[in-house]
Amino acid sequence: MYDYLIVGSGFFGSVFARQMTDAGARCLVVEQRHHIGGNCHTEDNDGIHVHKYGPHIFHTNSEAVWKYVHQFATFSRFSYRPKVHYRGNFYSFPINLMTLYQLWGVSTPQQARERLEAERIKIDKPSNLEEWILSMVGRQIYETFIYGYTRKQWGRDPKELPASIIRRIPIRLTWNDDYFNDRFCGIPIGGYTQLFKKLLHGVPVETGADFIADREKLESKATKIVYTGPLDRLFEYQLGTHDWRGLRFKQRTHDVADYQGVAAINHTERDVPYTRTVEHKHFEPVETSHTVVTEEYPTSWKFGQEMYYPINNDTNEQLQQKYLAMLPANYIAGGRLASYRYFDMHQVIASALQVAAKEIRYHAAGVVPLPSVNAPRRRAA
Ligand code: UDP
Repeated sequence: MYDYLIVGSGFFGSVFARQMTDAGARCLVVEQRHHIGGNCHTEDNDGIHVHKYGPHIFHTNSEAVWKYVHQFATFSRFSYRPKVHYRGNFYSFPINLMTLYQLWGVSTPQQARERLEAERIKIDKPSNLEEWILSMVGRQIYETFIYGYTRKQWGRDPKELPASIIRRIPIRLTWNDDYFNDRFCGIPIGGYTQLFKKLLHGVPVETGADFIADREKLESKATKIVYTGPLDRLFEYQLGTHDWRGLRFKQRTHDVADYQGVAAINHTERDVPYTRTVEHKHFEPVETSHTVVTEEYPTSWKFGQEMYYPINNDTNEQLQQKYLAMLPANYIAGGRLASYRYFDMHQVIASALQVAAKEIRYHAAGVVPLPSVNAPRRRAA
């Protein structure tokens, strides 16, 4: 008998498994796919670590999370500085003084401020993504950087989308072109899958194991279930299905050492069918005569396909709340799929650490003592 059956080996499940195992609990991880690490999974392609489910750049402001992940990997000094390609021109991105220089020739913060002031469209209470961005930076920036990309990414007109989707991207009147404002940023050297292997060291993991298909048997193996899959599937879609945005990846190998000179180029024209081209070797430089580039195509999501971006509208939110209310008492739900939230990796790690700490406190207080919790640390060397 296990204390915890953990469904899914992404960051939530793996961090939880590590913490509880170190606290002496018996954990079993079951993973539907044939690899660990969820969407962070990287695959070794002759020395190049390919981010199979889209680029994952680790960034955080939390020193605790940054220290935590360093137990399982060394991180490169990578910082994300993608470029934008629009109608044959290349621009610095996210929007910074260099971008505004390339667009308008302004070269000081003061000149940029004045130009932006003139470009802004006065909208009293912006009620959607388009109105918000027009009121911040005006039409030319909206059309060059935002409209086409967002239309492709979400399959909807930006007028029908909330501004929250885009607020995370900075607009700076300095030469700083770093995508993230966080204090810490990097990529695990050797790839994410290596990091997950260390994270799950000594924890039994069954891959290719579908919890839902074998639910009764698997549930009977543990006192508590930590579920990181989508809740609608857990409840057999009895109240309805969540809506997602999908992604399709076209991976190409080129016989050149460097194809595009940067980790990511955002293709913001509506008529170019992909949103990004990602050249993986720039995340962690390696000397190879070939390179691997992935084109990213957003797609409408169909039942049974991989789920990437949740569509957090009222209908989906209400459905999520109803499913959450149905969660059995011995279940813990966490992570992107079960929360129906688009999280950054550091957020998922922080929440798994928090939930694990709560479980440990709970058992230490003897509320529901588990036989194995507080037993000597059993982490394998
Ligand atoms: N976005 C855009 N142009 C870009 C990059 C992003 O319009 O070149 C918008 C788009 O709507 C996207 C949102 O900003 O969904 C958030 O971008 P982010 O890079 O955070 O998305 P992620 O890489 O996490 O999918």
